Amino acid sequence: MSKTLPHTAAAGIEMGIKKFILAQLLYNRVAKACANRLLEWPLFLRNRGYRYVLRRQIKRVIDRYRYVPFALRIENTNICNARCYLCPHPSMKRRKGSMSRELYKKLIDEACRWGVGYVNLHNFGEPLLDKDFAWRVAYAKRAGIARISTNTNAQQLDERLAQELIEAGLDEIIISLDALSQEMYEKIRTGLDYKKVLGNVEGLMALKRRMKRNPTTSALSTRGNPPSNSCRPTCPLSTI
Ligand code: SF4
Repeated sequence: MSKTLPHTAAAGIEMGIKKFILAQLLYNRVAKACANRLLEWPLFLRNRGYRYVLRRQIKRVIDRYRYVPFALRIENTNICNARCYLCPHPSMKRRKGSMSRELYKKLIDEACRWGVGYVNLHNFGEPLLDKDFAWRVAYAKRAGIARISTNTNAQQLDERLAQELIEAGLDEIIISLDALSQEMYEKIRTGLDYKKVLGNVEGLMALKRRMKRNPTTSALSTRGNPPSNSCRPTCPLSTI
């Protein structure tokens, strides 16, 4: 037992370093741009040995992901608190509910065995209505998923829940905001409260600053509405 411990610790550290480098290369834009530049350096490309290694590497990656998804989207719940005019959710015939913890664990464990690096918790419903949401994030992080994101309408995202999500390790929150006037917002996102959502988003921004943790936060806009970037001066997300 005492002989295997250092080995296990070393293997754990090595795996952690590999995951960190992989996450940096996959999700860090600067690292990605530098790596791409380096890989396309003419001095390298003219070298036959380099081209051979590169071809083998590309084939290895293609073979690896031929039958295995790189990213996974999981519908943790299909319950929703809105009736957005753009969405067919109200006419959905499927039974409504949340995924069991057992099924979720099975999916995440399998995803880890496959080497899936990205999980998005959301599909047809409001994911934060799921009372197990923070638990799901924490479980996936512990299991070794590099990046976890969700899309939300932010109606439920009060300070307590935001703190739970940040502490659980959520990496990205995509907020379906759609409009920056109450009138337009409530026309699009029927059933939601514009002021409450905006307050929640501002609370999340303040919490991120206080906790010195920074899950990526972005706003999503549907076609036909001004993109959130063009509304930066008034958008609380502009503080990112
Ligand atoms: S919040 Fe999302 S799932 Fe719910 S009605 Fe709106 S678009 Fe559809």
